[in-house]
Amino acid sequence: MHSQVVIIGSGPAGLTAALYAARASLEPLVVRGLQPGGLIATTSEVENYPGFVDGIGGYELAENIEKQAARFGAQYKDALITKVDVSQRPFVLTTDTDETITADTLIISTGASPRHLGVPGEEQLANRGVSYCATCDGFFFRGKKVVVVGGGNSALDEGLFLTRYVDEMIVIHRRDSLRADPVLQERAFANPKVRFIWDSTVAEITGDEKVSGVVVKNLKTGETQDLAVDGVFPYIGHIPNSGLFKDILDLDENGYIVTDGRTRTKVPGIFAAGDVVDHIYRQAITAAGEGCQAAMEATWFLAEQEHLAKKQAAAPAEEVVSPALGQW
Ligand code: NAP
Repeated sequence: MHSQVVIIGSGPAGLTAALYAARASLEPLVVRGLQPGGLIATTSEVENYPGFVDGIGGYELAENIEKQAARFGAQYKDALITKVDVSQRPFVLTTDTDETITADTLIISTGASPRHLGVPGEEQLANRGVSYCATCDGFFFRGKKVVVVGGGNSALDEGLFLTRYVDEMIVIHRRDSLRADPVLQERAFANPKVRFIWDSTVAEITGDEKVSGVVVKNLKTGETQDLAVDGVFPYIGHIPNSGLFKDILDLDENGYIVTDGRTRTKVPGIFAAGDVVDHIYRQAITAAGEGCQAAMEATWFLAEQEHLAKKQAAAPAEEVVSPALGQW
């Protein structure tokens, strides 16, 4: 399988890259990865993506961009990339089923994954009361009591979504003020189902077959209390999904792929966009914007390569220099 543009990841960055590359007649191939639609597809309601007056469901938004790109010829493949060889062009990618895909250019839009609390009980009780997706799992907590950990937009957005189902939603935050946007804070403070435990963290998640409680530790006093709850939703940020590229590209100290401000990585022909790069804005709209940029850069790169190849063919004796691996 070969494509001029292979896009790894199918969140707003990857799907927008697919739309632009498809409209440039490059027939991009999107390798969807573990989470088709990316993190946005697990978000209940997106209220700040321009163009949707009443907001739009995260899954629906991703599905719409996917269909829009497919209309212009984007192809999709449900697979995980497990190996990338960039020592030659075309680049060679290997999937989890040992298939080989070759690519003239690569757009990395692998996004980020929810950060785990790293406390006892979290891994053992995952999917048994511990969830990182309120949209997916909220329904299972009808009439229950849950905690949401974190004070950012995700914690409040997803926590407020949970109040559709639960009797009580307790936000446990390590400080005494929230990071979330004021509009979400106002909604949370006004919601009778929402309670806050400030200056505290979850030190342990307890339960045998399923979650039965958490141990809450006050970070100022050091005191702990047992809280009986049925569910725990950690929303404490994300970790970029860049592991596949750690020996290939430059990553910063937190694992984000380093680009030159134009989505170009240090390897010519490899571009990166969205949450795997962006540790500042992390919005669906900024990811989509970067996906657009990456597709345009890939298009220009391919045109430049074609131009150089033609020049080489026309004047074989003349030395024509094309960007070498590792330099632009
Ligand atoms: P975030 O903004 O980084 O917030 C993470 C929260 O978790 C912070 O309150 C942080 O506390 C807390 N935290 C971090 N590490 C912790 C730990 N080890 N233990 C306990 N608490 C910890 O992440 P996010 O909420 O997932 O949002 C990510 C991005 O998506 C943001 O740019 C956000 O604006 C965007 N987003 C937007 C919307 C929306 O616009 N509606 C919805 C969801 C997400 P501190 O505050 O003390 O640092």
